[in-house]
Amino acid sequence: MIVMKFGGISIQDSQSIRRVCDIVRDRLPMHPVIVNSAMGKSTRRLLMVAQSAARGDADQAGKTLDTLIDYHRALIQELLPRFSENTLSRQMDLFFHELYQLKDGVAVLRDLTPRSQDKFLAYGELISTSILTSMLQSMDIDAVWCDARKLIITDDRFTQARPMVDITYDKLCETLLPLVDAGKVPVIQGYIGATREGATTTLGFEGSDYSAALVGAALDVEDVQIWKDVPGVMTADPAIYADPLTVKKISFDEAAEITFFGAKVLHPSSIAPARQKGIPVHVLNSKHPEHPGTTLSADGAVSRHPVKSITYKRPVYLLSLRNLQNLPFYDFFKMIFDDLDRERLTPYLVNIAERSVKMVLSTSDNLQHLIDDLDNIAGINIMSNKATVSVIGETLVEYPAIASRIVDSLKDIPMDLISHGASNMNTTLVMDADRVETAIERLHHEFFRDVDPEVFETYHKGN
Ligand code: ADP
Ligand code: MG
Repeated sequence: MIVMKFGGISIQDSQSIRRVCDIVRDRLPMHPVIVNSAMGKSTRRLLMVAQSAARGDADQAGKTLDTLIDYHRALIQELLPRFSENTLSRQMDLFFHELYQLKDGVAVLRDLTPRSQDKFLAYGELISTSILTSMLQSMDIDAVWCDARKLIITDDRFTQARPMVDITYDKLCETLLPLVDAGKVPVIQGYIGATREGATTTLGFEGSDYSAALVGAALDVEDVQIWKDVPGVMTADPAIYADPLTVKKISFDEAAEITFFGAKVLHPSSIAPARQKGIPVHVLNSKHPEHPGTTLSADGAVSRHPVKSITYKRPVYLLSLRNLQNLPFYDFFKMIFDDLDRERLTPYLVNIAERSVKMVLSTSDNLQHLIDDLDNIAGINIMSNKATVSVIGETLVEYPAIASRIVDSLKDIPMDLISHGASNMNTTLVMDADRVETAIERLHHEFFRDVDPEVFETYHKGN
């Protein structure tokens, strides 16, 4: 048994949906369970509908919703031209009707609670899985639509809900195993779940990968396959660097570090459930299913090339706090961290000197609150328009020369902060946001000129 998860870009138009269905058909002997994101940019569109409605702009909300519904209708027309009399048609009409009702409700209340936002956003996945199920059925595959709201049971932290693992695993096993045993292909929504009381929840940004790992861990599958529009985890983001390589083997730790420091290719916590059970995870390319992609495993790859990837985060905010009142350092530090906790802000890089603290935050949300709170104890300076660039690799610290190679390659780029990470797996540099491209280009050239073909593979664009 395997889990196959398809992200939004892998199912954004009729051509890519057909491709995904072919990929599933070719893997039927492996007994797949399918986990799907919303199609294309549907989640973002749904959020726009919800936000326009909450602002009281019913017109705009209506238009955006119409566009979204037209997009799905057009896809259905193209993929399943005879769908009008069948179950899919009825299910779609129901979803669209519910969405209009929700929009009207929010527009009247002019209030978008996290709870109603989750209800809104879940339709992206509910719709996409319905279409995919019908599409697979039309190819004579015995696909069964399953409702994640009955299987992934979470707490009530709407928009960032956490699954209750034991009950979720039980429900997934009870429902999905008999289906797979009977030769059926369950299709389940990523990203969404529900509380015990049945209120729809979402698992947070990029939560679909997490759903896939949860399903995989619950069913103890042989493989969790995360299908993307890229060849795997790469040495740099192909969206901003032209010649990255595919990393063929990587450890769970390295992959988590790569995502934590900016590469949105895999959700950091998505790795956890699979990792706990020692289930291998593959990142594969839906445009080239025959490519081996990236294998994630507990031990990864020992290589003569310790650097695995160069990542970036942009924008980030560099916060400098000076101990104005000469408070005992411990008190100063504690106040800052208590405040960060109160504002639910997590710095992802901290640097401490005798009378000051510098930290990097990846969001400006609540930053003003933090400044107001700390105003009388700290001299605060915030630099926006900054970025971090990180060099990642498991055995980095064992190679002292790496740090000097990094600094040498970037001699003429002013640095606000350099940190050799607490995990021993990253060196992170804080710089002006507009220097990222140059920094990545130089570092890539420095560390991936002559690579181990066991671990890295050249990526040919358009290939
Ligand atoms: P999905 O919707 O399938 O989950 P995502 O958009 O979340 O896909 O992740 C794939 C994207 O991650 C790619 O389009 C790519 O631009 C970006 N990305 C950033 N860094 C990397 C990296 N090091 N390797 C691969 N992809 C990366
Ligand atoms: Mg994703």
